[in-house]
Amino acid sequence: MAAVQKIVGVKGMNDLLPEQSGLWEWVESQVAEVFRQYGYRAIRTPILEPTALFVRGIGEVTDIVEKEMYTFTDALNGEQLTLRPENTAAVVRSVIEHNLLYDGPKRLWYVGPMFRHERPQRGRYRQFHQFGIEALGMPGPDVDAEQLLMIDRLWKSLGLTGDHAPRLEINSLGALDERQAHRRALIEHFQSHASVLDADAQRRLHSNPLRILDSKNPAMRAVIDSAPLLQDFLGDASRAHLAGVRDTLDRHGVGYSVNPRLVRGLDYYNLTVFEWITDRLGAQGTVCGGGRYDSLIEQMGGSPAPACGFAIGVERLVALLEEVAPPALAAGLDVYLVHWGSGSMAAAVAFSEQCRDAGLRVQMHCGEASLKSQMKKADQSGACCAVLMGEDERAQNVVTVKPLRAEGGLVQQDRVPISDAPAVIRGLLKLV
Ligand code: ATP
Ligand code: MG
Repeated sequence: MAAVQKIVGVKGMNDLLPEQSGLWEWVESQVAEVFRQYGYRAIRTPILEPTALFVRGIGEVTDIVEKEMYTFTDALNGEQLTLRPENTAAVVRSVIEHNLLYDGPKRLWYVGPMFRHERPQRGRYRQFHQFGIEALGMPGPDVDAEQLLMIDRLWKSLGLTGDHAPRLEINSLGALDERQAHRRALIEHFQSHASVLDADAQRRLHSNPLRILDSKNPAMRAVIDSAPLLQDFLGDASRAHLAGVRDTLDRHGVGYSVNPRLVRGLDYYNLTVFEWITDRLGAQGTVCGGGRYDSLIEQMGGSPAPACGFAIGVERLVALLEEVAPPALAAGLDVYLVHWGSGSMAAAVAFSEQCRDAGLRVQMHCGEASLKSQMKKADQSGACCAVLMGEDERAQNVVTVKPLRAEGGLVQQDRVPISDAPAVIRGLLKLV
């Protein structure tokens, strides 16, 4: 018979394997707790949305919409659909659709997979995950600053302190009329140096000249460096907003640098924009990006309301933790149940269920194996203790509790009556 061909997963889309899932779950729980500490509530939107949502929300002349979206026609009904490349547009859609702002501002958070057709490399995947925050209906710099304090707190809660923590860069993109005045000056500047512009820049000159500033083409370094700066076009209100954010950061000792070249890759930002960057992950060092998007809700058909948010790339955050500060995580198993002798299976199942009734995490050995090989499995399982049920124990209605590691607080092997065993184990493991 011909060998059956194996099917492998889609390129750039990863499996999260058990060796890594513990760290992911820990990160997720830390993040959720910090977000809750600031009054954010979770929202979950579908992974598929109408294509028009992202085209309108993110902007036609952005990398994402131009070349990174997984878009297809639903063969069953002809709808144009897109796998979400980011979640702000979708959250805004949901907020408008359900009129969530009818009774005032909302603080929302989400976590989930995003999809971009990029060239896969370290820190850049076609399916990746984001934690995100959207604060809707609040205009002041206080909420921008609060989000930065929250992210700073999150790094600390993950053990990313000192030079392990990502560094913060902020900038102001000002108001629409200020950006337009800057845009005119930019077009003029680039037009007067048209001969050094590459094809991408030529194309963007009139559609999105700001994106030219993002170019990595060394031949354009000089013309980009000498381009007019948006900060020279900011009016009093925009300056005051940025000063308000900086003031809070200063008073709370959160370090940052102002990067006048920081523009971000999506169209909807105004005023505050920021990125948290690490130098420890090579080229894909931006762990978190965000800012204010005061006109998006209106642009998507809702009543005008200001907004501010950010997204954290989970793969990059986990990679940073693995690189500099991997936490010591408990295996999450209290008991590995070892049993042998005729009829031991029924007694083992019953005792495992008794332990679980008492709130213990139990893995029962399944299948026949020697005591030695079961003990080896128990050791590998990471459980705090092994509970042994042999013929001898069962005859006397006891179990033997054998400590496997010091962290559990157990010191020596002991025989305990079966009926008391779950409570005794809980006590020994300091779970009570
Ligand atoms: P980059 O400049 O690295 O392409 P971006 O500006 O496209 O990032 P955002 O759209 O702001 O990124 O998304 C926020 C965060 O999501 C990024 O800072 C990054 O941590 C993460 N991220 C974005 N794209 C990817 C990807 N393809 N794979 C893994 N993480 C990603
Ligand atoms: Mg990108």
